[in-house]
Amino acid sequence: MSVKLPIYMDHQATTPVDPRVLEAMLPYYREKFGNAASRNHAFGREASDAIEAARRQVAHLVNAEDPEEIVFTSGATESNNLAIKGVAGMFRERGTHIVTSQIEHKSVLDTAKYLETRGFRLAYLPVDREGIVDIEALREAISRNTILISIMHANNEIGTIQPIDEIGKMARERSVFFHCDLAQTAGKIPVDVRAMAIDLAGISAHKLYGPKGVGALYVRKRNPRVRLSPQIHGGGHEGGLRSGTLNVPAIVGFGRACEIAEEEMQEESKRILRLREKLRNELIRRLGDVHVNGSLKHRLPGNLNISFSNVEGETLLTEISEEIAVSSGSACSSATLEPSYVMKALGVSEALSHTAIRFGLGRWNTEAEIDYTIERVAAVVGKLRLASPIYASERSQ
Ligand code: PMP
Repeated sequence: MSVKLPIYMDHQATTPVDPRVLEAMLPYYREKFGNAASRNHAFGREASDAIEAARRQVAHLVNAEDPEEIVFTSGATESNNLAIKGVAGMFRERGTHIVTSQIEHKSVLDTAKYLETRGFRLAYLPVDREGIVDIEALREAISRNTILISIMHANNEIGTIQPIDEIGKMARERSVFFHCDLAQTAGKIPVDVRAMAIDLAGISAHKLYGPKGVGALYVRKRNPRVRLSPQIHGGGHEGGLRSGTLNVPAIVGFGRACEIAEEEMQEESKRILRLREKLRNELIRRLGDVHVNGSLKHRLPGNLNISFSNVEGETLLTEISEEIAVSSGSACSSATLEPSYVMKALGVSEALSHTAIRFGLGRWNTEAEIDYTIERVAAVVGKLRLASPIYASERSQ
C-alpha cells in the first residue's frame, strides 16, 4: 500500500480536526451566528442551546456530575492558569503552599513560578526513572499550609500516566484541592473526575480532534465546592469565572469531538496501541540499543518516546522529519538545544536526551505508515551509526 508523505505522527502536539467535528461547526459560522448571551431572541437562544449541549457532551466525557461544572476557556493553558491562580487567589488566607511535579506542562510550571513571585511556596516533586511521581514524597510534601496539588494525568513528552486515583484520594484525605491537567488524556483513555476525586481539570479540544483555541476547566461544585477567583473580568460569562463572548462554533466542535472520542475510545486506543507496539518492537529488533523513555506500562497508547544511542540527535531529527512529522522529545522545547526538563527529571543522560524522538500516533495513522516509518527510521539511524566514530570503535572492540 502506498503512503502519502509527509506522515503526521505528532498527535501529542495537536490533532487534525475530525471531519464530523467540522461538519457540526459549520452552521455556527453561517446562519447560526448568534451571541450565546443574547437569550432574548431566537438567534441568541439557538447559540446558547448549542453551548449547553456541548457542555453536556464535555461533562459526560469526564463523568462530571453536573454540566455546570464545565467552564469553557481558550484551551488547557488558560484552564490550568485559571485553576491554579484561581485557587491561590481565593484561598490565600487558608494557606500559601502548592505541590506540583517537575514534569508538568509549562502552563502549570510557569504559573507556579509566577505564584512564587507573589509569595507562594511551591514544592516540585521529582519523578522516578519511569517518570512516575512518588506517592510517599507527595504525602510528605503536604503540610497544613498546602491548598492545592497540581499533577498531570499523562505527560505530553513521554506519555507516562500518573497514579491519579491515589493522588486524588490523598488530596481528599488531607482536605487539599486537586487539580489535574487532562490535556493529553481526555478522549484518549478513560477519565472519571468523580472516581479519581479530581476537583479541577484542564482539557483541550485540539488534542482530541477538535479545533484549536478552545478548551474547558472542570470545576467541582459539590463535595467539596471549589471557589475560584476569576482571572478575566467583564460581562460575567461562564458563571463569572471566564468573561468574554463564547466562541460558539469552536465550542460546538469541542462537544462533538468529546462525543466521538467517548464512543470510539475503546476501539481506537486498542488499534493505536497495536500500531505503537509494532513500531517499538520492530525498531528494537532492527536497531538494538534503543531506549524507551518513561514507563511502558503506564503510558498513553499513542506515545512512543525513544532514544537511539550513538547517533547525532539534530541530524537524526532533521533527516526523519523530512518525511515523518515527529517531535524531538517535546514540541515545546524543540527550539532550544537544551535537553528537555522532562528528560532531566527522568535522569536520562544528556547524550540520549538529544536523540529522543517522540512518535505521537493518532486516529488516522495506518499500518502502511507505521511500516514506512520503521523502514525509514531504521535506515537513517543505521546510516548515522555507521558514520559515528564512537559506534565504529565500540563495534571493533
Ligand atoms: N497541558 C498539556 C499536558 C499539554 O500537552 C498541552 C498542549 N501542549 C497543554 C497543557 C496546553 O494546551 P493548549 O494548547 O490547549 O493551551
